[in-house]
Amino acid sequence: MIEIKDLHKSYQMGSNSLHVLKGINFTVGEGELVAIMGSSGSGKSTLLNILGMLDELDDGEYNLDDVPIRGLNETKAAKYRNKFLGFVFQSFNLINYKSALENVALPLYYQKRKRKERQEKAMEYLEKVGLAEWATHLPSELSGGQKQRVAIARALAAEPKVLLADEPTGALDSKTSYEVMELIQGINDEGKTILVVTHEEDIAHMCKRIVHLKDGIIVEDKKIEQVRASKYV
Ligand code: ADP
Ligand code: MG
Repeated sequence: MIEIKDLHKSYQMGSNSLHVLKGINFTVGEGELVAIMGSSGSGKSTLLNILGMLDELDDGEYNLDDVPIRGLNETKAAKYRNKFLGFVFQSFNLINYKSALENVALPLYYQKRKRKERQEKAMEYLEKVGLAEWATHLPSELSGGQKQRVAIARALAAEPKVLLADEPTGALDSKTSYEVMELIQGINDEGKTILVVTHEEDIAHMCKRIVHLKDGIIVEDKKIEQVRASKYV
């Protein structure tokens, strides 16, 4: 599904260059649930943004579902991004003046689906995350955990092959974090490939594999016995 070979990324700041990713190699197969761990500044978000085609790599190879991603023009990149990838962020990134349902329906609008289909699909995914009754509510009327559920429904509504989550529980208390991880585990149980960036050990252990980044390289990459979040909620 995801193949990365000798990936490098630097940021230019004036005359200084910051080498953030220094030769990353890894592959992710269909149906995996991978935690990307590492301390703050280790390059986790940079890696996820490159995988998500939100940022470009400087050197190396990236194949997504056998499509070479490097050097695609913006039109093609946008097309693959829409087709392959769903995003979830720490800060939810919901649109404040749109209802939960409208937020979830938005990616379907960009996929040029018909209005009726957008409404139906959005409702289906709100139901899936347990928020059907909150469809008409604004984000400001929802708790943090509910907002993240809406964001997850929005990411799934476009039916991406891969779900990328950058610190999805970073703004939530422990109990709510475990509830969100329970949802993520359930989605993975159905076969979705998911990558979760986190710096929290307990969250990482709810995945099936931990990739440890340190100073821009992978220092450890191991399969683990998954801890089920349902034990804690
Ligand atoms: P993490 O998500 O692991 O905390 P990041 O990938 O966000 O780490 O950042 C890695 C390093 O790259 C940090 O030192 C950060 O300051 C730097 N960095 C990230 N994005 C940019 C950018 N757009 N411009 C310049 N430096 C950046
Ligand atoms: Mg980050």
